[in-house]
Amino acid sequence: MKRTFTCIVCPNGCEIDTEYEGARVLSVSGNLCPKGKTYVTQELTDPRRTIASSIRILNGELPLASVRLTRAIPKDRIFDVMKAINGIELTAPVVIGQVVLQNVLGLDSDVIITKNVNAIS
Ligand code: SF4
Repeated sequence: MKRTFTCIVCPNGCEIDTEYEGARVLSVSGNLCPKGKTYVTQELTDPRRTIASSIRILNGELPLASVRLTRAIPKDRIFDVMKAINGIELTAPVVIGQVVLQNVLGLDSDVIITKNVNAIS
């Protein structure tokens, strides 16, 4: 079979024309580096994505703090993880790197804060 993938590993966004059989990649073209083939193989066997979002902060100088996952998760679990993130509410202060949800849904990825939010003084 043939399919074109857009590599999302770096900002180059290479369009990779791929020939494959099942999960076996027979040939790739259009990738500027070997990571493109690895990405295509991953997409065919176990597609993963990372998430950036935000959570509600109480008593903070800002009402929200941005968060992200420490590791990509299976693509088909994104909705479940977003639901878990949307239910989080913390009280300021929060600091960059603070773990908000450890091992979210048992997926071996943590949700961490990516923006400091001070408490209202
Ligand atoms: S193939 Fe390499 S250069 Fe192209 S987008 Fe992927 S990582 Fe970047």
